[in-house]
Amino acid sequence: MSTPGPPALAVTVVARQRLALGVGSEIGYYTAGHPYVPGSALRGALAAAWITEHGPPGRGSPKTDEFRILFDGKIRYGNLLPAGSHRTPLSVFRCKYHTEPGCPETVVDRAFETGDHCPDCGRRLEQSRGDLDVPGGLTRITRTSIDPATGRAKDGELYANAALPAGTSLTGLIHGHHPWLAQPRTLWLGGRRTVGGQADLATTPHHPPAPAPPAPGQPLVVRLTSPAVFVDLAGRPRLEPEPTLNLVPGAALLPGAWTRAVTWSGWHAASRLPKPAELCAAAGSTYRITGAPEVLAALATRFRRDGIGLRRSEGFGDVAIATQPWRPTGTADKDDHRLDPLSELHARLLDLGLDDPAWRWLIGALRALQVEQHCTGTVPADLLTDLLTQPTAADLTGRQRGQLRKILDGLAPTTLRDLTTLVLTTPAADRQRAARQAAR
Ligand SMILES: [Zn+2]
Repeated sequence: MSTPGPPALAVTVVARQRLALGVGSEIGYYTAGHPYVPGSALRGALAAAWITEHGPPGRGSPKTDEFRILFDGKIRYGNLLPAGSHRTPLSVFRCKYHTEPGCPETVVDRAFETGDHCPDCGRRLEQSRGDLDVPGGLTRITRTSIDPATGRAKDGELYANAALPAGTSLTGLIHGHHPWLAQPRTLWLGGRRTVGGQADLATTPHHPPAPAPPAPGQPLVVRLTSPAVFVDLAGRPRLEPEPTLNLVPGAALLPGAWTRAVTWSGWHAASRLPKPAELCAAAGSTYRITGAPEVLAALATRFRRDGIGLRRSEGFGDVAIATQPWRPTGTADKDDHRLDPLSELHARLLDLGLDDPAWRWLIGALRALQVEQHCTGTVPADLLTDLLTQPTAADLTGRQRGQLRKILDGLAPTTLRDLTTLVLTTPAADRQRAARQAAR
């Protein structure tokens, strides 16, 4: 069933509260969260808003057809990305060592270029992880993890989650059109309303330009801008499209894709129950397709309009067509493996190898600094000196003392608060491991 109107809607969302969109796609203490709003989350939030307006779809609801057209039909919900963000594709290889002046500039996009080693330092180039760089970064929140089966906090399990700050503006596309989507509305994005998620949405009609076809004789380069779900003919998950592209005549997938597996779990908006995790190809995965120019031009248009793979109406399989090698934008380009500033401060504290009494001193000192900052708005320079000369600090080494002064001096109030939380919630095993390493 087709709906009249423009082929797409340009979406703008402004976060009124911070947006925490971690849905557990990675395991480990530093859960990455999503520095963007996945299409699946936009679709879920709109479906929840529809249900608030019209009641649940189903037998007895005259509006059930509208719900199906909006959320179970051909309309596709793309990702919403923070203004100024960019993703490094997985086909990009870079020098991670930065020992020579030219190292940071070494970038090889193997979808278009060749090269294994850094011309400046001679070391092997490393593959990017497909991460999204967001200007200003994310706010990090630490709390206990929620058991998806029970909805309760798991005992003793902690994780740091990342959130987009309030005021963040995000943009994206909805492929398709429906009058209900033309109205501005307030949404709750993300599964946990307790940490915010309120945002204002507005849409405008959009006519995307046709993607540029590849140069004659060149393959079509397709990059995932969201995770994608692919299966083989037996229904087993795979990380790339089926080699014949499900029997498209005159086109074939070239071997050697650049991809990475992620598991993706989410919440069913209507029932608020967790969905089973799906094995996906990560955003940033890059594929090359060979074929006749007119076939590739038609595929480029189709893939961008319809997406690729399964579960596309849920926001999976959004793609971009690339016609030239990826290059970093701006000067704020970062190492993929760099920790955010708060985690880095925490890591530096762990690296000091403090024993139990020294760690207890650290907790007390952080609290004292926080209280002073809270009450007076500043931390007098001699407070840290006083703390470092307390009897309980007597066993600190000269190096520990100097480093603690460097790390703790002049922290902004939010950084001090968050660092205190991280220190308070550091598992004893992590701290003891760090102390053993420091002792070597
Ligand atoms: Zn190098």
